[in-house]
Amino acid sequence: MTHAVAPTIELLSGASIPVLGLGTWPLTDDEAATAVEQAIAAGYRLIDTAENYGNEAGVGEGIRRSGISREQLFITTKFNKKWHSADGVRQAFELSAAKLGVDYIDLLLVHWPNPAQDSYVDAVKGLAALREEGLLRAIGVSNFKAHHLQRLLDEGLVPDVNQIQLDPRHTRPELREFHARNGIVTESWSPIGQGGALLQDPVIDQLADKYGMTPAQIVLRWHLQLGLVAIPKSSNPMRIKQNINLFGFELTDEEVGSLSAMDTGESDIADSDSFGH
Ligand code: NDP
Repeated sequence: MTHAVAPTIELLSGASIPVLGLGTWPLTDDEAATAVEQAIAAGYRLIDTAENYGNEAGVGEGIRRSGISREQLFITTKFNKKWHSADGVRQAFELSAAKLGVDYIDLLLVHWPNPAQDSYVDAVKGLAALREEGLLRAIGVSNFKAHHLQRLLDEGLVPDVNQIQLDPRHTRPELREFHARNGIVTESWSPIGQGGALLQDPVIDQLADKYGMTPAQIVLRWHLQLGLVAIPKSSNPMRIKQNINLFGFELTDEEVGSLSAMDTGESDIADSDSFGH
């Protein structure tokens, strides 16, 4: 069977992250097992889950069913605020690794900064210790703003990745620039705008016609050409295959710019200074 395998980007830690992966929110264990198995058969190597999704066991089941060797995969999971301490992060790692059925995790993320709790610096210190021990290949954060990241940098802590909401209507130029200055890779969640109105936009539609691709493929190609890592979720076998079939065409610089110009300036779905779990 032919399938697409995404190229990778090297992280500060030296690990290599595929530029395209499968999102798994809000799949149940059973749904996740099926989607993950299908995705790996279609060429996906990066799978994104979280403690909070309640489907890490299903993701692990899908991985085992796929028959692929562990070292070919890049597994990302995330932990909740109750684990924001050096010892807590170790417990979160152990719980996630056990559910996934793996003995190391490629990328473990602080899911939300929860600044009111004021302990995300300790959480990232805990992650750095686990990476030193070889239990993690890379460490990261999610939903961090520049001022959260700056506190980490001031402590000498540099996450490999910040996973944030990012699509052509929310392009986050200042934060991407901050990441680039510090060697942090930007990973886009809800990269196709949750499959909603974004995919009906006439600019995207026109490009889909021109290249004989779907609107989602045009948007995902935009992420890749900006040097981002994207994790679209699908549990539909056809869309799972389509969403990684992005490596046979290229948008022009002008076309990339026309998608970036769709930024509405609207705020994100959730403000991470007040929302988090
Ligand atoms: P996405 O932008 O990935 O959109 C997913 C939706 O789009 C689903 O309803 C899916 O339906 C549909 N879809 C998928 N492919 C296509 C296609 N080719 N054409 C049309 N519709 C399509 O949104 P998500 O919010 O799921 O984000 C992706 C992932 O990011 C999550 O699954 C999760 O892993 C992660 N995430 C992380 C967050 C964080 O705080 N760090 C927050 C939110 C998400 P169908 O399944 O039927 O194809």
